[in-house]
Amino acid sequence: MRNHWASHLLALAGWLLGALLLGLIAGGPAWWLAGALAAYVAYMLRNVYLLDRVISGAPGLRTFGTRGLWPELVAGIDKIRAKSRNRKLRYHRLLREVSESTGALSDAGIILNPEKEILWFNTAATRLLGLDPARDIGNRIDNFIRHPDFVQYLEDPAGRSITIPSPTAELGFLLVQLIPYGREHQLAIVRDVTHERHLERTRRDFVANASHELRSPLTVISGYLDALAEADDPPESWREPIREMLRQANRMTQILRDLIELTRLESETSKAKYDFVDVADMLRGIVRELEARAERPKLTLRIESDAALLGSESELHSIFYNVIHNAVRFTPPTGSVDVSWGTDDAGGVFTVRDTGIGIPAELIPRITERFYRVDPGRSRATGGTGLGLAIVKHALQRHNGTLTIQSHEGQGSTFACHFSPARLVYRGGASKAAYNRPAPNVKSG
Ligand code: ADP
Repeated sequence: MRNHWASHLLALAGWLLGALLLGLIAGGPAWWLAGALAAYVAYMLRNVYLLDRVISGAPGLRTFGTRGLWPELVAGIDKIRAKSRNRKLRYHRLLREVSESTGALSDAGIILNPEKEILWFNTAATRLLGLDPARDIGNRIDNFIRHPDFVQYLEDPAGRSITIPSPTAELGFLLVQLIPYGREHQLAIVRDVTHERHLERTRRDFVANASHELRSPLTVISGYLDALAEADDPPESWREPIREMLRQANRMTQILRDLIELTRLESETSKAKYDFVDVADMLRGIVRELEARAERPKLTLRIESDAALLGSESELHSIFYNVIHNAVRFTPPTGSVDVSWGTDDAGGVFTVRDTGIGIPAELIPRITERFYRVDPGRSRATGGTGLGLAIVKHALQRHNGTLTIQSHEGQGSTFACHFSPARLVYRGGASKAAYNRPAPNVKSG
């Protein structure tokens, strides 16, 4: 028991004993005791009333004095109150710092609940998206960012980020990333990437312009070299250098053609058009063309589905040709290349399986980069530009397609291009007109 309680109980005992003694001397001790108890209860009631006032904010020590049980109780209450005031101050300071630091961020941060409604955002969100704290808290975010790509992304972010045109700044671009946290909440980070986009476009334009500018003089050089190679008059010692110059000029023409194609694919923001493309027919043509080569592996073609594709004819040709051509170039004449076209639950699948030199596992993610080759010497010697798979990747993206690569060094590789069902049409008869386009995601037989 603490000291002030002991002295309080002692004082109470003394008070009751005093009343009892007086009662014994003056007579009627029970009355005296009852009177003393009543006085004690009245005293306690008064103090409880005063304590109630102290709790409601009246100054404690002035009401109760400085000594005894009641001032101690009041001091205890004051201590708890001071602690809670300090804690509140600390939280306020912390909150102010968080709010000031998030306010200083150049990226917008927006917290969304599971219903995609805005719970909080920083000042950059006001600048980048025009959000107003007084008006927009509690509204769904797709009321403000209405771009179809964002609406689709909001439903299935799957760890990606997307770039969309800015809803507030003309010619501006925003990079949006949704990060899940807590219980189905999401943090949307929005960054202004207009400057990066502009630099990227400048780089692309430069490559495209340089390629176009170089093409005309190169055509003239190739033309003269062609004529020289076929002419009878150049001395014999010039023949091989002229042939080599012609080979290199043709290589440069091919590189320029691929560069122009790649820059075009990179700068197209929309998806590829939906033209009818008879895949089986196209693959037969490509295989026939490659079969005409002298030194080549055994080529087989399997058409397992009568499905056709909806897309850009030239881009799809580029995809199929590059993948089959690579397999032929990187497989020795004793090996084989299997080309197939079919469908599965996920859509259309174009597969090329070869028994060629294969690719080291750690380099597989890099071979779709521009000018990346596992063996640059071999690539050049077989007429490669180092741009083929970069073109395949971009053209596939424009067709809602994906590329998967499996390979074992020294054993061979399998390249598979997957197309979404929305790009497939199925044959209802023999003619092109008899194909019918199903609703997206629905397969018809
Ligand atoms: P390249 O013109 O060099 O073939 P690509 O972009 O088409 O350029 O391919 C990049 C690199 O990927 C090639 O240089 C080669 O190293 C590797 N590669 C592509 N296809 C195959 C294949 N079927 N087998 C082995 N390596 C391949």
